[in-house]
This record gives sequence, C-alpha cells and structure tokens, in this order.
Amino acid sequence: MRYAETGFNLEIDLSRGSIERVESDPELTEHFLGGLGTNAKILWDRVPPEVEPFSPENLLIFSAGLLCGTPAIGCNRTIVSTISPQTKLMAYSMMGGFWAPELKYAGYDKVIFRGKSPDLVYLWIKDDKVEIRDASHLKGKGSNETADLIRQELNEPKAQVASIGMAGENRVFFASIEQGRSSASRLGIGAVMGDKGVKAIAVRGTKDINVAQPAEYLALCNEVLEYIKWRNDNPVPGVMTILQGLGSPQEMKVHDEKWHTENFMWGNSRVRRRDFWNEGVAQKWAETLDTMRTRLISCFNCPMECGATITPPGQPTFMMKCFSKLTYTMAAFSDLDFGLKIAQRATEYGVDGFSTPQVMAFGLELYENGILTDEDMPGMPSDNEGRFYWLLDKIVRREGIGNVLANGTYWAAKEIGKGAQEYAHNNIKKHEQLPLKLSMLNPVYFLMYCTGEKINITQIEGQFPQAPYPKREHREAFVKDWFQVPDEKFKQYFLDWEPRGENSNPYYPTVQMSCDIVDWQERMHYIDDAVGMCAGLSSFPMKPPYHIHNYPKFITSGAGIEMDEEKLTQAAKRYRTLVRAINISRGMRRVDEKPPENHWKKRFPELEEKLLDAYYKFKGWNNDGIPTKETLDELGLDYVSKDFLKRGILTENEDASSDETSAEKEEE
Ligand code: SF4
Repeated sequence: MRYAETGFNLEIDLSRGSIERVESDPELTEHFLGGLGTNAKILWDRVPPEVEPFSPENLLIFSAGLLCGTPAIGCNRTIVSTISPQTKLMAYSMMGGFWAPELKYAGYDKVIFRGKSPDLVYLWIKDDKVEIRDASHLKGKGSNETADLIRQELNEPKAQVASIGMAGENRVFFASIEQGRSSASRLGIGAVMGDKGVKAIAVRGTKDINVAQPAEYLALCNEVLEYIKWRNDNPVPGVMTILQGLGSPQEMKVHDEKWHTENFMWGNSRVRRRDFWNEGVAQKWAETLDTMRTRLISCFNCPMECGATITPPGQPTFMMKCFSKLTYTMAAFSDLDFGLKIAQRATEYGVDGFSTPQVMAFGLELYENGILTDEDMPGMPSDNEGRFYWLLDKIVRREGIGNVLANGTYWAAKEIGKGAQEYAHNNIKKHEQLPLKLSMLNPVYFLMYCTGEKINITQIEGQFPQAPYPKREHREAFVKDWFQVPDEKFKQYFLDWEPRGENSNPYYPTVQMSCDIVDWQERMHYIDDAVGMCAGLSSFPMKPPYHIHNYPKFITSGAGIEMDEEKLTQAAKRYRTLVRAINISRGMRRVDEKPPENHWKKRFPELEEKLLDAYYKFKGWNNDGIPTKETLDELGLDYVSKDFLKRGILTENEDASSDETSAEKEEE
C-alpha cells in the first residue's frame, strides 16, 4: 500500500492524444520525496539539455506534493516544472489553492504532458475517467472565465481548474497558470502550457488518501494547528508588521503600506519615494481596499487567510495576495485603485504580477529616453495609466512592440539594441527581480541572489531575520523560544549580529555563517516544495510551525517512509543538486550567478568572490558552481556524474572542463 501519495501518474501525449495511468516507483519517493524532487528526476531522465522550451520533447509536469491531500495544515501546493522559455533553465513554480489535493483525491500524484496538441484542448480528470476535450471555444478567454465556463459545461461546480489566459496561448515568456485562488507565475510556465495547446486542466476527485500512522499523524497536525493559533496571538516583536506573523505576507489584511511604498522602487525599479506615505494617501488607500476587498480567503485546509477576493467596480471578481497588490501601482507611479483594477485584467490574461509591471515600466523608460519612439508605440495614450493598459494589451496579444516586450526585459533589450540593455538592470539569470535597491551589501542575500535557482528571492529567504535587532536584550528575547533552528549555533550568529560596527554587514554574518544560514533557508524551501507545503507556514516566516525537527515525523507517519533529520537533509540535498545539475547541463555557470549590478550601492568584490568560493565548496560544487563527481556519487547521482564526464562538463580530476560554456555564451 502507498501512503500519502497515490502511486500513480497520468502521462498525456498531446501529439498522439493518448492518456496512460502509470504506476510510479516507490524507491524514487524515498530518494526524492515527491513534488519538486521527483519532478527534477523526471526532467533529468527525460528532457536532455538539447531540448528547447517550446519543443514537443519538453515536458510540463503538474505535481501534487508528497503530503498534499492529507490533513497536514496548509499542505496544498502544486509544483509545476518544465524548461523556462525566459531563462532556458529549469522552471519550478508553485501554486496554492485547491488543485493539488483534488488531483490526489482523483487518484494521481502528477500529470505529465509531452508533445503538442494540434488544436487547443483541455484535460478533464474525474477519478478514473480522463479525457482530452476540445477547447477551441475557450480560445482568447480569460483564465478565471475559462474556469467558470468549464465548470458549467461539465456541470461540475466543484471541479478545480488550472488554466491559462491569452498570455499563455500567445507564449508570453512571463505567462502564468491561474487556479482560482492562486497562481503559478514565475518563469513562463504558462507559455509552455500554451505552446502545448493546453488551455486548462479540470479535476474532480472523490477518493481517499491513506496515511501510514493515522493517530500519530493527526496528533502532529493538531500540534501544528495549536502552534499556529498561538503564533497568531503572539506576533514576533521588533520586525515590520508583515513579517510578524505566519502565512504569505498578510498584504490583503494590512492598510499601512508605508514600508513597501517608501522602501521599494517605483517605475522601472529606479525611484525611491521616501516621503510618499502620508495621512491623505493612507486614508485614500484604506478606502480603496475596504471598498474593493470583498472577502479574505485561504487555500485548502489552512486558517491563515492570506488572499482576498477583490471586486473592482464594474469588473469581475478575482483573487489577489501578497506583494502583487502594489506591483502595478508602483511601476506606474499610480495609486491602489489603479493597481487593483489593472491586476484584474492581468489575472484574466494570465501574467506574472511581479515581472509584468516591470516589463511595462521598462518599455516606457525606453520610450521616454528615445530608444523606443512613436513609431514603436502607435496609438499609445498619453496618460501613464492608459499607457500601462495599452502595453498590457499589446504584450499579451504579441502585437507590435508587445511582441518584443513579451519576451521579458532581458531578451527584449537584446532585440531592441541601441543601449536598451542598460535599462534591463534588474535581472538575475535573465529574469526580473523584486524592485528593491539597497545600500550596504548583505552577504546572506548576496549568496541567495547569486545561487538561487528558483529565481525569486522571496522563495529562498526566511527563517533567519532579515536584519539585526538593535539591542542585545531584544536579540536574547528573540532566541529564547527559537526551537526551529537546526543547530544552536544559529542563535549565537543572531545574538552577535549588530546593526553597526565590526559585527555588521557586509562582514558579519561571516562567510562561513552566511553559508550556514543560506543553506538552512534553502533546505527548508526545498523540503516544502517536495512535500507540497506552503512556504508561508514553513520556510518563509520566522519561527514557523513546520521545521526540520517535526518534518521527519510527518513523513514517517504520513508517507510511511522512515525518516530522520539527517536522511531528510540528505534527500533535500539530493534533489537540490539535481536541479543544479539540470541547469549546469543547460550551460549555467558561475558567470551567471550575480545579483543586479545596482542592487546594493556599496559592493565588495573581494568579499563577494570569497562568499561564492566558500558557498560552492560548502555545497560540494567546484569553483564554477558545478557539483563535483564526489558530491554527485555520494548522493546516489552517479548517473549525473557519468553524464557530466561524457559531455566534458567535468573532467576526471573533477575540475571544470576547459569548455567555457555559460548561459551567456551560448546565446551569442
Ligand atoms: S498560509 Fe496563506 S498562502 Fe499559505 S496555504 Fe495558508 S492561506 Fe494559502
């Protein structure tokens, strides 16, 4: 008997129109857990580096995490993995909501698409009945509209529908997959779905999921629920409001946006408005939010209510959470009213709420600086907000300049030329980052920005406070009940961290401490992404209910896999290394691992080199960021080391090959 997982995947060949129900290997679950872990193994095995994102041979994998569908609180993530059209590296974007548990209840852990459908289709999964259905009547429809129409035509009001909008159909490189109350947005996975001709996947399941030790498992779930209640009543003092509690930052609950609006950058990630927030703005924005926010909502089996349904006057209702509340507003130098209204249209089009506003602000900056001209922008309105709507429409339809901008700032700048590359200044690995520019280099964030392969800083950080507390007595109070640390040394790291002086950024946390902190933070995110846990209850907030000490018990009693902290750490290291191996085989190298030039004003090249050298060594990677043969073999990834040797990526003495492959070089 399989526990927590169903033991079956759906294999859909879109070119042939075939559907297979395939039993998965339980040994793979033991080694790679599930979700991201087993997705990475499938991509390694079946998508060689020669396969382009829009090739029929690229796979698009929708996976429920290992513990999704069990009573574990907040365990509801769908992990979507493929090769990204924007970075040409592995993409693994997550969505919350309700889709993953529903897939489990229908009897499947993953849906794996290969090939391409000649016509637009959608997949309908109802327990054992699985059909590829015509979706030609849904062409051009919005993502939420599509979900509603599918539920109506199937007469299945409880079906969960993951769908793309026009952006995905037109292969916009930052197209998202929307799913009622969540979305998988980063790295253009919606474009791959559109390229495969899949408009949506609707699923309804009525089966049960078994857990190995129900009494122990439920006791653990109750402990988590109790802790969540306690933490909600006892917020962490001394940090900004959105970091005090659990959940994805509670943006839809808060009215006070002083911190974001005055610290994050406006426009094309350029302008900091230090005195923006005042009583008048506060009152106006509070009124806007109170008028349009119809209800606070949660994902499956979670009490946190991170999202909200928003109903702009005269527009359909949509769901919003987290910082996308402000991304359009700030990119357009506008107000919350505009931000919420345009976000409704953008959600129907199905685009990433982080990248899209930046791409539009980038386009307008090029126009203001004469690099794009009236000829490139025929008919563009003169007002700022009108321009954003105009550009959004052009991008999702890939019309005119929209066709260029639809490839993201990095590729658009290359195509436009005439110095446009200087304006695409906020990328890492060809992908737009948070519009944040700071003063002093932070060694922990430096490492995360450089080496993160999720390509989204908010999905790598967490656990360790972002800044030191001003007084030692506050730090002492903080560490007192910090039982989530994997090792007591982390408490000392924090206790000794000062805002100024010798023990402050950039030289403190020291190089070694920075490696330890980044590794811990990253490990927790990777565990979440395999078991399907929301980062908002585990890896992202400080002092979360899920941590390295109780996760092994969840996996043992839930999935029936004997687990302890060491084995779990090793498993996470295994598939994290496999993700890197996929990207290394696609040309990623040290030269690609750098934050945007202007992310920090004060830079320390020598220290930065040292940090990267030390972190690579710590992870068992060579000086070019390539996992060594020894590391790969020790993790049971000897098939990767053999492949690397065969391809000349590693040589017998484990140095990087003389071949200077890098993502940058390959495209030239
Ligand atoms: S913490 Fe928030 S984002 Fe996470 S599962 Fe719960 S409601 Fe969803």
